Amino acid sequence: MVVTRFAPSPTGYLHIGGLRTALLSYLWARRNGGKFLLRIEDTDFSRNDEAAARAIVEAFKWVGLEHDGTIEYQSSRLAIYQEYAQKLLDSGKAYKCYMSKEELEALREEQTARKERPKYDNRYRDFSGIAPEGREAVIRIKAPLEGSITVHDGVKGDVVFNVADILDDFIIARADGTPTYNFVVAVDDALMGVTDVIRGDDHLSNTPKQIVVYEALGFRVPRFFHVPMIHNHEGKKLSKRDGATDVMAYKTLGYTPEALLNFLVRLGWSHGDQEIFSMKEMLELFDPSDINRSASVYNVEKLDWLNSHYIKNMSNDKLCELLEFHGVILVSHDKREILLDALKERSKTLVEMANQINEILVRPTGFDEAALKKGYKEESKGILQTFARALKNGGELHLPSDYHHVMEQVVAQLEIGFGKIGQPLRIALMGKLSGPGLDTVMAIIGVDETLARIDALLA
Ligand code: GLU
Repeated sequence: MVVTRFAPSPTGYLHIGGLRTALLSYLWARRNGGKFLLRIEDTDFSRNDEAAARAIVEAFKWVGLEHDGTIEYQSSRLAIYQEYAQKLLDSGKAYKCYMSKEELEALREEQTARKERPKYDNRYRDFSGIAPEGREAVIRIKAPLEGSITVHDGVKGDVVFNVADILDDFIIARADGTPTYNFVVAVDDALMGVTDVIRGDDHLSNTPKQIVVYEALGFRVPRFFHVPMIHNHEGKKLSKRDGATDVMAYKTLGYTPEALLNFLVRLGWSHGDQEIFSMKEMLELFDPSDINRSASVYNVEKLDWLNSHYIKNMSNDKLCELLEFHGVILVSHDKREILLDALKERSKTLVEMANQINEILVRPTGFDEAALKKGYKEESKGILQTFARALKNGGELHLPSDYHHVMEQVVAQLEIGFGKIGQPLRIALMGKLSGPGLDTVMAIIGVDETLARIDALLA
């Protein structure tokens, strides 16, 4: 069985890079009928907070990625880590080191002066004497002293790390008993039965250390897939300046979870030249061994394009539900269908759509000067008055085509072009010269409101 996990450290919001690896892990587990686990890595008490953990869980709910089982919090597994550290001590694969901070500092300075990589010198590796008085011990794991460790990575191929360059007997438990990062990640992945670790390649350099832990404890090493980072157009790591990095900001900006997930799956993974992937297709097609080796470039235009695709193809019920978050309540609006059908063709985001809805439903509070100059001529008043009369006498008007018909009649009667009535009417209805079709706008707001807006312009 394939078991994957997402293991965020709750130091802030859920980053879109994190959501991307979570999505890939989710897809791979689901595609194989396996399990996708969520683990909150909150053992660094100085940097973590509960609110951040909650925000991450909330973001997960928003995008709809369901994890299996309960959320594991590392902070409630400390006894487990102690137990495994003790096992390593008992089996002689780890040992207590009594080196003081000052000694460690002095060693670092010497090594730096010799232009050597600072590393622990194994002075307590084979120590069997009496512990120096007043010293608190840390626990160090016995790492290999020479040779290499190869990470068999499903994305990058075999990555060989020379032990002398990157390892020493690293600390697995601090003097106060708290475990260290690489130790708990490996213990948890092993105990939780994780078979496939899909994570950002910023973690690649941690992997040899985790392999040391796996091997010391006799655990099977999982498969690793280190996913290249998301870059901006300049080839640098994505930052807030390039676009939102907080997943929940995308909700506020009016993106749909479907578009965001589609966007993220395509960052670093492809299937031919297909751009649009439903969740079902992603589940059928995603394979982590197809992840690109090079960094992927964040491109907000692509996200906008995908978002407009998903908005266009969304049911009106669903759209109504999503628009409520943006302050637009349409459930009982009798022209809801006309309104949404017209606007979903024209909106890149739900925010854009909400704004356009408000522009239609709320009477303009003023008229754009430039629009008046361009579209409101001497003859406009008379034309609008004729149109208003025709509307009043037009009988029952419901559909955009009913209103269009009245406009046609007026145009024929006055022997004018459509623009002569279209432009001033648009200013009356919308306060400006842009917006969706006038017949649609009128069908949505109805005859009375149309007349009131014309009156307001003529007043
Ligand atoms: N907690 C790590 C992070 O948030 C991820 C660790 C992992 O995936 O192994 O970056």
